Amino acid sequence: VRATAAQPNGSIPNGSTKHNALVAGADRHQIIDDQKNFTSELASQLKHWGLHDTGFDYDVVAVFGSQSTGKSTLLNRVFGTNFDVMDETRRQQTTKGIWMCRGQDMNVMVMDVEGTDGRERGEDQDFERKSALFSLASSEVLLINLWEHQVGLYQGANMGLLKTVLEVNLSLFGKSSNQRTLLLFVIRDFIGTTPLANLSATLTADIQRIWDSLSKPTDLQEAKLTDYFDLSFVALPHKILAADKFENEVRELRKRFVDKTNENYVFKPSYHKRIPADGVAFYMENIWEQVQANKDLDLPTQQELLAQFRCDEIATVALAEFNEQAKFQKRPIELGRVVEGLGGMMRQWKSAVLSRYDRDASRYHKDVYSRKRTDLLAVVDSVLSPLFLGQLKNLHKACLVTFKKEMLEGLRGENSNFADVVTAAKDKCEVSFVTAAKEARLEDSDWVWEDELELLREEVKSVSDQCRADETKKMVNQIERNFKKQISDPVEVHLNVASARMWDEVLGVYRETLDKSEALYLSKAQTFNCTDEENASSLATLRRRAWIALRAKIDEQTADPVLLGKLRTHFEERFRYDEDGIPRVWKPDDDIDGAFKKAKDQTLELISLYSRIRPQDPENAYEFSADTLTAHSDDHQLEEEFDFESSLTVLSETKVLDLSSRFRKDADAYYVEAKRSTVSSIAQ
Ligand code: GDP
Ligand code: MG
Repeated sequence: VRATAAQPNGSIPNGSTKHNALVAGADRHQIIDDQKNFTSELASQLKHWGLHDTGFDYDVVAVFGSQSTGKSTLLNRVFGTNFDVMDETRRQQTTKGIWMCRGQDMNVMVMDVEGTDGRERGEDQDFERKSALFSLASSEVLLINLWEHQVGLYQGANMGLLKTVLEVNLSLFGKSSNQRTLLLFVIRDFIGTTPLANLSATLTADIQRIWDSLSKPTDLQEAKLTDYFDLSFVALPHKILAADKFENEVRELRKRFVDKTNENYVFKPSYHKRIPADGVAFYMENIWEQVQANKDLDLPTQQELLAQFRCDEIATVALAEFNEQAKFQKRPIELGRVVEGLGGMMRQWKSAVLSRYDRDASRYHKDVYSRKRTDLLAVVDSVLSPLFLGQLKNLHKACLVTFKKEMLEGLRGENSNFADVVTAAKDKCEVSFVTAAKEARLEDSDWVWEDELELLREEVKSVSDQCRADETKKMVNQIERNFKKQISDPVEVHLNVASARMWDEVLGVYRETLDKSEALYLSKAQTFNCTDEENASSLATLRRRAWIALRAKIDEQTADPVLLGKLRTHFEERFRYDEDGIPRVWKPDDDIDGAFKKAKDQTLELISLYSRIRPQDPENAYEFSADTLTAHSDDHQLEEEFDFESSLTVLSETKVLDLSSRFRKDADAYYVEAKRSTVSSIAQ
């Protein structure tokens, strides 16, 4: 229930009419209605009044007193509020309940407690007790408003009210004597015949008597009134009969609530109930609920409940912004990107969420505050930790890619040294991983990146090993190609000569070229950091391939047409030319048959020479079979297909027979031709 209409009757202090009407905070608000229900809008009302974020920098004051003793009038004058004032002409009762308004130009919550005095109206005293509990649990200063003529009337209504206040206070703060409240008595329609000092003494004696008469729990028997209350007294002249004086005194009284330098400034720190402003609404509502349910008001428990509720709320608000920030980087990380400066961002989000939380929550119950802070940190870490782990994974991938790229680029360079290139790329890769990983790791976390680095190292090693194997293979292939080129001509020459030492010569070429190739391999392999085993295997491969290349060359040179050509040439050289290389002209007396047979037999012997690699020098045979070709190669295909013994056979026996018969036919043709030439010469 809000009433925003300006109250022309006594609601505005002198001289500030216009200003006050414009102050948004001046709306009064009924926090407890006549049905004893608590408002649901106090929090938003406090925000509206600008008090919500004042921390502890606010004060609470409540007024108590009999009906129609000018309480609302007093508050409106002193605090610039606009509480309802009874219409003089109709003398209607104002609504029962508790109203609140913000004091003008001050951080003060002013509570107008209507109808506190049930006795006077012959009603039950339930509301009196409840509102006293409620007011004492939240207010620093309790104004006790009474007419001068009520003073000293110990049996009067006021004294009943005071008894309730003292009783209730004992049950609330009995054990915590550090909670003090100021009871400020405002004596209305003060005439002046009895000095204020006398009135104060009477009231003090009365209230002391009430205190003494209270039945106190055993452990509080010795408790003194002054342990819990400060008493103060002020007298106000008649509002209508001494209007000017009344206004003057009201202005003086206002100073005691506004001016911190005033010697009678009422809001001492010890009166403050230490409820942060942003928790006041929740706190008051809870207090009222407890009071309504007639439960014992355990203030420490209430404060802890308040702290739990508010710390949760504050954490939720603080987390909302944090989650928003973190969400923004989640996607790119899931997509496999390395987020530049992720650690810096995370540090910033984390410190921001904590400072947002600390700013508001640190005012609450210490244990609850730090417990909830631990919870908050756990939530924060549970959001950040996947980002960190994702970043590490992406970093791992990115570093590996860069490593491969740099390694291959480095190897493309002239005279590049494999080992140097790989070491440089590897070092760079690790440095960039570690740098970025350290950046992303939050110092106060138990996060680790070392495991991921270990994985990266393993992959780098397997990549570089694979690359080394590829490069070695390429090198062996290159050497093999060169080998083929180098043996080609010399082997051809030696196979053409077909001397008795032909195979020794061919194997000599093989040996010499292979030696050079092996030396070349070893000199290059040094830069690859190959292990001895790898070298042994590569060399074995190289030797076998070299042998196979030699065999291929031999096969090429002993293919049917080539070999038949060689045989023909050999035969011709012996049959058609004499020892001096001069072409023969056959005469009838010449021994054609003898020459033919000799040349033919000599040539047929060659087939046997070509048919098998059979060096004259047995050392050669041993060297190739036992030494060079027994080591195992990595190349499994080579391994399976290779059979040194059978590779020594160049021409099978059938092939030998076939070639022999084909050669004989060729030779026979030459014989016939030679015979014919003598016949024709005779004929001439
Ligand atoms: P409340 O019920 O205690 O809040 O009293 P109100 O402020 O509504 O005032 C009740 C009546 O007392 C109104 O008619 C006021 O005009 C009148 N009144 C206010 N202040 C004074 C005062 O100082 N002296 C006298 N005699 N009457 C006052
Ligand atoms: Mg009133």
